[in-house]
Amino acid sequence: MRDKYNLQEAVQEVEILNITPKPIETIYKAYRQCYAKGKAKDIEIPTLVSLGTTHCKAVDYNKMINFITPLMNDGHTSPLEHCCVTFAVSGVSRALTHQLVRHRTGKYNQQSQRYINFKSFDFILPPRFAKNSLAREEFMKAMQNDAQQYENLLEIGIALEVQKVSDKIKRQLFEHVHGKKPTDSSVIKYMFVPLCTYSCNKYVQAYMELYPKEYNKIKKAVQEDARYVLSNACASNIIFTMDFNNFRKFYGLRNCVNAQWEIRELARKCGELLKEEVPFILEGAMNCGKTCTECERGRK
Ligand SMILES: Cc1cc2nc3c(=O)[nH]c(=O)nc-3n(C[C@H](O)[C@H](O)[C@H](O)COP(=O)(O)OP(=O)(O)OC[C@H]3O[C@@H](n4cnc5c(N)ncnc54)[C@H](O)[C@@H]3O)c2cc1C
Repeated sequence: MRDKYNLQEAVQEVEILNITPKPIETIYKAYRQCYAKGKAKDIEIPTLVSLGTTHCKAVDYNKMINFITPLMNDGHTSPLEHCCVTFAVSGVSRALTHQLVRHRTGKYNQQSQRYINFKSFDFILPPRFAKNSLAREEFMKAMQNDAQQYENLLEIGIALEVQKVSDKIKRQLFEHVHGKKPTDSSVIKYMFVPLCTYSCNKYVQAYMELYPKEYNKIKKAVQEDARYVLSNACASNIIFTMDFNNFRKFYGLRNCVNAQWEIRELARKCGELLKEEVPFILEGAMNCGKTCTECERGRK
């Protein structure tokens, strides 16, 4: 869906950017070290029965997993913290990222609204509104108003700053726009009055052309303030890293009917991706002890 502000519904995407190498071996050694007399280098990684002539022995992952999971399910979970996973997430709302960063053990880097111009932005439309034409229309109006007001405030804010330049620079701007010197000082006085008229905008444009560095500094500062009108629905991109133990806690809390739908979707996708790398990682991760159907607090 696109309109004059190029507003578009975002799609949530997640990928694993990085993961600790050999995570299962690392976790296995960490568990084994708790009970081993010797050094970590003496702890052998179990292998399958010798594969004939080759010196290369296949690692016995099942054996390691069978050793790890009962201990993990007993609550002995700190060995999992030796491994971390980094997810790159795009197309999520600020409503989601506010919740995500509450998980304090995670490390986060999020797209900044200070440095990026949001004249056009992607947004997240909650499914309950997407399904109804009236709700959808109202939501879209709110997004368009946001974009319009952001643009207006950007324009007004930049003009307010540019009008503070010295009279000498104002004369330069006048000459740049009209190709001649101003006739008297009152012309200079009222160049930016009223704000955001056709002629005022021409002087702002001239300032941008003559003083690009200074103009960009002003624009960035005004963007910082204009973003205050942006909605929680604005799409954002975020990279986050968690150790496996705290990922399990995050997953247990957020892939739950009590959690909000968008972060639940994120937790589920992250969990599926991590499970491909470390199959046992989510075993027993639901920490409330209830199944979804038993959970009386659950909401649709
Ligand atoms: C369904 C749901 C609804 C929620 N609603 C709200 C709400 O209305 N308002 C609101 O403010 N929050 C809300 N939250 C957020 C919630 O309170 C937690 O902030 C969030 O889930 C992170 O959990 P955590 O603190 O266990 O995780 P993390 O911050 O990742 O910490 C993991 C564990 O490490 C320990 N830890 C980490 N840092 C510290 C520290 N500095 N001091 C002590 N222990 C620490 C704690 O034991 C913690 O359990 C909600 C969460 C959920 C799942």
